[in-house]
Amino acid sequence: MRIELDDISLSFQPGTPFAVKALDRVSLMVRPGERLAIAGSTGSGKSTLLGVMAGILRPAAGRVLHDGQALSRKPRLQPGRIGLGLQSPENCLFEKTVFDDVAFAPRRMGLDGERLGQRVMWALECVGLDAAASATREPFSLSVGEQRRVALAGVIAAEPAVLLLDEPTAYLDPATRRDLLERLLAMNDERGTTMVVVGHDMDELAVFAERLVIMDDGRVAADGPADKLLKDEALLERYGLEAPGTVRLCRLLSGCAGREFAAVLDEEQAANLLQEIMGWGPGG
Ligand code: ADP
Repeated sequence: MRIELDDISLSFQPGTPFAVKALDRVSLMVRPGERLAIAGSTGSGKSTLLGVMAGILRPAAGRVLHDGQALSRKPRLQPGRIGLGLQSPENCLFEKTVFDDVAFAPRRMGLDGERLGQRVMWALECVGLDAAASATREPFSLSVGEQRRVALAGVIAAEPAVLLLDEPTAYLDPATRRDLLERLLAMNDERGTTMVVVGHDMDELAVFAERLVIMDDGRVAADGPADKLLKDEALLERYGLEAPGTVRLCRLLSGCAGREFAAVLDEEQAANLLQEIMGWGPGG
C-alpha cells in the first residue's frame, strides 16, 4: 500500500495561546514494501506524522492519500490495511487473556475457529513470545516488555499491509530488541509488509531501515537512503542524533591511523577494518 502526504500541516490546540505547530508543510511518499525509519529529536513531530499516516489524526491543511485515494475527513482505523503500534501499547490491552487481546482485530475481520487460533499463535511467535505458554495468561500478569510484545502481536495479527510503529523496541532488553527487529525484517521480506518505524537508536535503524527521514521542528529536514544519511555524522549531529557505533569507530580509527577510512554500517565490516589496521592475520 502506498501512503502519500501532500503538504500537510497540523497544529494542536489551534487558535489558543497553547497552540503548537506539530507538522509544517510535510510532503512525503511511503512506497509499498518500503522500510522507512523516522528519526529526530523529541517534539520534532514523529508521532504526529505516524498518526497522520494512519489516518487517526486529521491535518488542518494538506491531503493524505492511501493508494491514491484521499482520506475522508472522518478518522477511522483500517485493521486489515494499516497497523499502528503506539508508544505505550500496554495501555491498549483490555481483554482477560493474551489470546483474546491478540484475537481482537482478526475476529472483527471475520476470522474464527482454527484459522483464528493459528493467526493468534503466529502473531505471538512473530514477536518472540512462547505462544502456547502465554496465550492463556492475563495481560497484566506479564512484564512491561512482554505486554509491549502482546500489544504489537495484536497489531500484527490483523496482517496489515502497512505497519506504523512508534519506538517498538523501547523498554526491551538488548537481545529482545535485536530479535524483534529481525522478525520485522522477516515480515517485510516474506510478506512485503510496508514498515514505518520511529526510532532513536541509530544502530538499530542501521540494521532495519532502507530509507531515513529526519524530522526537525515539524518539518522534513532530510530524506534519503539510510546507509548514506547514517554515515553523515555532521548531518545527524545537527538534528541532535548520534551516528551508529560503527560510523563513530571508523572516524576514531581514521584519527589513530592517520589515514581516512570510509564509514561502514556493518559490524563485520568494522571488525575487518580493525583487523586490517592492527595487522592481525587470520586467527591472530
Ligand atoms: P515526537 O514524536 O517527535 O516527540 P510529537 O509528534 O509527539 O513529537 O509532538 C510534536 C509537537 O506537538 C510537540 O511540540 C508536542 O509537544 C506537541 N504535541 C503532541 N501531541 C500533543 C497534544 N495532544 N496536545 C498538544 N500538543 C501536542
